[in-house]
Amino acid sequence: MSDVLDPDVPAPDAAADAAGPLDLVVVGCGAGGLATAVSFAENAPGSRVLVLERSSRYNRGGNTTWTGSFFRLTAEGRPADDFESRMHELSEGQSDPSYIAALCDQAEPTVRWLADRHGVEFETRPTYFVTARGPRLMPAGGGAALVDKLAKSLERLGGSIAYGVRATALSTDSFGAVNGVHVEEGGKPRHLAARRVVLASGGFQGNRKLLERYVGPTGGELRPIAPGGKNNKGEGIEMAVAVGAARSGQYDRFHGEPVDPRSHQAEALVMAYPYGILVNADGRRFLDEGSDTPDNTFEEVAYRIWREARQSAYLICDAKLLEIEGHERSLLTDKDPITAPSIDELARKLDIAPDELNWTVDRFNDACRPTPYDPTRLDGKHTVGLVPPKSNWARELDTAPYMAWPVHCAITFTFGGVRTDARSRVLTEGGEPIEGLYAIGETAGLYYSRYPGATSVLRALTFGRLAGADIARVPAATG
Ligand SMILES: Cc1cc2nc3c(=O)[nH]c(=O)nc-3n(C[C@H](O)[C@H](O)[C@H](O)COP(=O)(O)OP(=O)(O)OC[C@H]3O[C@@H](n4cnc5c(N)ncnc54)[C@H](O)[C@@H]3O)c2cc1C
Repeated sequence: MSDVLDPDVPAPDAAADAAGPLDLVVVGCGAGGLATAVSFAENAPGSRVLVLERSSRYNRGGNTTWTGSFFRLTAEGRPADDFESRMHELSEGQSDPSYIAALCDQAEPTVRWLADRHGVEFETRPTYFVTARGPRLMPAGGGAALVDKLAKSLERLGGSIAYGVRATALSTDSFGAVNGVHVEEGGKPRHLAARRVVLASGGFQGNRKLLERYVGPTGGELRPIAPGGKNNKGEGIEMAVAVGAARSGQYDRFHGEPVDPRSHQAEALVMAYPYGILVNADGRRFLDEGSDTPDNTFEEVAYRIWREARQSAYLICDAKLLEIEGHERSLLTDKDPITAPSIDELARKLDIAPDELNWTVDRFNDACRPTPYDPTRLDGKHTVGLVPPKSNWARELDTAPYMAWPVHCAITFTFGGVRTDARSRVLTEGGEPIEGLYAIGETAGLYYSRYPGATSVLRALTFGRLAGADIARVPAATG
């Protein structure tokens, strides 16, 4: 709808009006939004680019600010040989192959761009998993450093960031091309005319209603794993759909992680489940804790804690956990375990019927076999005759003190978004690009089935960098 025809929309901002439409408006100040804006400003010197951020400068950056930001790359910044094939495999062939190929091809140049042009330093750090083969590349200072450095670059290049401004809807011209954004600032609506609009406002993990609608009736029980996710309420996705965008990504799936609900810190991970058993509130096991290495299972484990254990599970270990070198990397919670000298007493402390927990532990112990144990690899030490089985690391729980951590599923980000091509242009159901509209990062629906860890920040940065340069190169159809 044209703004001129909309009686509810006040006249566009006078200053912006006098200078004509902005060259680029980007919604969202995380990795995706900032990479796009910076790349555009680099490639279109003297242009007018504005990033809209609903929160304050202090709280800016959504999920990006809260992530350590592991990249699925080698220490030299290169994708591993199985980068593409693994992404296809985990999405069960549903993610767009051209998008994955572009990500694989452009990941290394993105790392170089960040390092050489924007002062981002990189380091390698061990992951949370005792089984992981090597450390992973990440920016020193994590996602917060990415936001800080890219925001500084943007300002140096002449772009700006407007804080406390929430995008609410897109405007279109009579041909359906996007020509601006409706926003709300200090409770007041206004309109910003723009030649091109990029939606980089994350997923909908911060919106209870949308979680219930798309993820499932109990989706509203899922809490974002870090404060930044609360700002991602799905407005970018819904406003694109309102102008004809197709949806993409699996709407009823999300990336979740097992966390300690007692903790108030972000990402209070409890990832040591391969070395113990997980039980529900009735003291019963409900999944195979050792079906694969934990980097391949933690998302599914978290999901099932939500779906099957109704957000109420406990990891039970015995004192032998403490002998595993590096076990502390898999326990990021700041809360101590609940400990007891016997399973009976532990059950009482957890409010589980002692008979039930004793029965579960006894059956588990009986099903373990005296084969070699190796916590650093899939050791094949499996239970015999137990349902559900434990396929690796099945070692008796027999050494006091016994320890327990409560475990919930926290939501990191949602998979559902809008359909884009490898140039990040937003597409209609018919596969046509919507003129003037782009989507980056979580707003662009990529993932299906299972998340290939350490790809989300990387793809936000990579497609942001590419889209910014592409938008600068191609003249706008509107304005
Ligand atoms: C604790 C944690 C650990 C993680 N670990 C990793 C990891 O190791 N590796 C990895 O690849 N990924 C990881 N992720 C996921 C990753 O951080 C995100 O998927 C990625 O940063 C998303 O970037 P983005 O730019 O799409 O969105 P975000 O960084 O979330 O930015 C969205 C921005 O849009 C703003 N916004 C939202 N709605 C509006 C609106 N209507 N108007 C204006 N502004 C709006 C938000 O305030 C926010 O600033 C992790 C996430 C978390 C929370």
